[in-house]
Amino acid sequence: MTEPNPCLECGICCTHFRISFYWAEADDAPGGFVPAHMTEKLNHHMRCMKGSNDVPRRCSALEGVIGEAVSCSIYENRPSPCRAFPVFFEDGTPNPKCNELREKINLPPIEPWFFPQAA
Ligand code: SF4
Ligand code: SF4
Repeated sequence: MTEPNPCLECGICCTHFRISFYWAEADDAPGGFVPAHMTEKLNHHMRCMKGSNDVPRRCSALEGVIGEAVSCSIYENRPSPCRAFPVFFEDGTPNPKCNELREKINLPPIEPWFFPQAA
């Protein structure tokens, strides 16, 4: 059994938050990985994903139609705030912020996901 992935029909968080992170996560810094051309400078220490600091907000890496079918074009190299926003917590309960955001685009709430117990 694999974990369900409700993000593939959602994407609302990628149009809701300013996606900001320490500048050196971008790939023009040693060890950086986020494509720098998809970011913009916020201040001396921080950058954000292009599009996420504008209104209406939409991260420039988001592809597709929110509420229908979406994907992150830099998924393997997405910045830390995207990695830190879970759909499910460790006990399988859904992130309540996801359900709050999903309601705004008429998507159903995410059901709890229970991990199989180890034998
Ligand atoms: S709001 Fe939650 S369910 Fe929707 S794309 Fe973001 S992480 Fe996934
Ligand atoms: S980098 Fe990807 S996961 Fe992060 S906000 Fe942009 S589209 Fe969403």
